[in-house]
Amino acid sequence: MITDIDRAAEIIHNAKSLIALTGAGISTESGIPDFRSAEGLWQKYDPAEYGTIQAFHANPEKVWRMLFDMVDLARNARPNPGHTALSELEKMNILKCIITQNIDNLHQEAGSVNVIEYHGNVSRLECLQCGTRYGDGDMDIGTIASGRVPPRCTRCGVILKPTVIFFGETIPRDAMDRSNSAAQSADAVLVVGTSAVVYPAAGIPLIAKQNRAVIIEFNIEATDLTRYGTDIFIQGKSGTTLPEIVRRIKSS
Ligand code: NAD
Repeated sequence: MITDIDRAAEIIHNAKSLIALTGAGISTESGIPDFRSAEGLWQKYDPAEYGTIQAFHANPEKVWRMLFDMVDLARNARPNPGHTALSELEKMNILKCIITQNIDNLHQEAGSVNVIEYHGNVSRLECLQCGTRYGDGDMDIGTIASGRVPPRCTRCGVILKPTVIFFGETIPRDAMDRSNSAAQSADAVLVVGTSAVVYPAAGIPLIAKQNRAVIIEFNIEATDLTRYGTDIFIQGKSGTTLPEIVRRIKSS
């Protein structure tokens, strides 16, 4: 009997332009809770109080308390077999790019090269007043998080913001353009570990679907996308299901 995972492996193997959209779920097996988990960050920090750009403007010191916890989580995490499987698919010349909503850098640590950070990165900082940007070489986010003192702009003294996208902010133009163009030319999309409710990221599989791409979703439970967009739903932990796909492709 041909199973959904057999069909998915075959489509992935034969795809000419395969892309992946990943969300917090791919990193839960690395120890970073997603939005919904009982022990998730958002149980401790209300998104309306800590996750909006208005909250950051109103009280950056308070929002940095959540950011310090986020940095600690990301820095202590290591890629899991789900991240590694996507990196292997890229090395096999099958996967063209990953569009990730995550800010944890785990795709890059797993060896993926073509990664579009749709919601930014927690370790790069920017000054909202004078526009100065600070990369890894300028300020070490790990040291900052250990000190628990919000970093300030060396030019104007204002508290810096990580380049993560808060609710109420727009997606960086470059990430948006590259993602839309990848979605428009995709013939198959892997949607991994995302509840697919945060727009515009959730619209990416739909852009691809308009151009007849096959949507293959990997999640532990059904989402809205499962009902209105997904062609093949692979239920289970992505740290198990994605490596299984790679194993089948290698042995075919
Ligand atoms: P979400 O929390 O809304 O949804 C996570 C999804 O992953 C759920 O549908 C859940 O069923 C699924 N899931 C959980 N564990 C899984 C597993 N092992 N295998 C497969 N699926 C699994 O997250 P989202 O859709 O990414 O959107 C929320 C926003 O939260 C994003 O903007 C993201 O930037 C941010 N966020 C990022 C991180 C991170 O960087 N790791 C962590 C938490 C939240």
